[in-house]
Amino acid sequence: MSAFDGLPPLRDVIATHDLRAKKSLGQNFLLDLNLTAKIARKAGDLSACDVLEVGPGPGGLTRGLLAEGARRVLAIEKDSRAMAALAEIAAHYPGRLEVINADALDVDVSAHLTPPIRVCANLPYNVGTELLTRWLTPPAWPPFWSSLTLMFQREVAARIVAPPGSKTYGRLAVLCSWRTEAKIVMELAPEAFTPAPKVHSSVVHLTALDAPRYPARTETLLRITATAFNQRRKMVRSSMKSLHPAIEDLLVEAGIKPTARAEEITLEQFCTLSRGLDAAR
Ligand code: SAM
Repeated sequence: MSAFDGLPPLRDVIATHDLRAKKSLGQNFLLDLNLTAKIARKAGDLSACDVLEVGPGPGGLTRGLLAEGARRVLAIEKDSRAMAALAEIAAHYPGRLEVINADALDVDVSAHLTPPIRVCANLPYNVGTELLTRWLTPPAWPPFWSSLTLMFQREVAARIVAPPGSKTYGRLAVLCSWRTEAKIVMELAPEAFTPAPKVHSSVVHLTALDAPRYPARTETLLRITATAFNQRRKMVRSSMKSLHPAIEDLLVEAGIKPTARAEEITLEQFCTLSRGLDAAR
């Protein structure tokens, strides 16, 4: 029996192409095409967009994106075993799917995509945070993408949307709220995947803001948040001491109590401190 898009069911695709999941590649596949179409819809209107997908595997989400009307999909997959299955999808949707067999960390996607561009992916857990950080810190803003719709381990998703004062508030939350509007749009139990991982998952949708909420140099903001949150239990006058000899004065000028802990500092205060630090150099 074929699936709603006329292609074979994903279980058959996996059996035909011997795509047994490899742990080393973070392979936990989504086999329910209704679910992948639902995730694709969370990415917004795709009809006028190119979509970047990282890690298509056997192509469940890829098929969801195409069935939901994506203008074009660029899919980057490291596992060469998946190429034949993905070629069948490309043949079924002529001119709408380009597949690159490579490590997504090594590919410059800009040459392959035409704006507006959305990113939608069930990311391999081992490279998810690295890719997100890269997408949030391009040399210039706005970035090449207008939205990111990404599957993460539930704990990582919580860190992305965490408000100040919460246990999960950290560098990732500061970075995401600085340049995007981020929200969790879907929760998935382990059984949604084959094989089922040990963890729950969440889909996060991030919309790029036209400009960051407050001015700051990316490099400085990354450095001060790394310094502050690496020792999150310490008072900032102590954890941030290495940043500048007059750090206490700079903290006060930014409206931050030197006795505060990193998790109490708002995005606006981090950005003000960031500018103060640059001006003091
Ligand atoms: N999108 C598929 C789905 O939803 O069923 C597969 C998702 S699986 C969690 C992650 C996929 O990313 C796997 O197909 C894996 O081979 C691929 N992958 C792992 N590391 C990668 C990398 N560095 N670059 C590109 N793809 C990678």
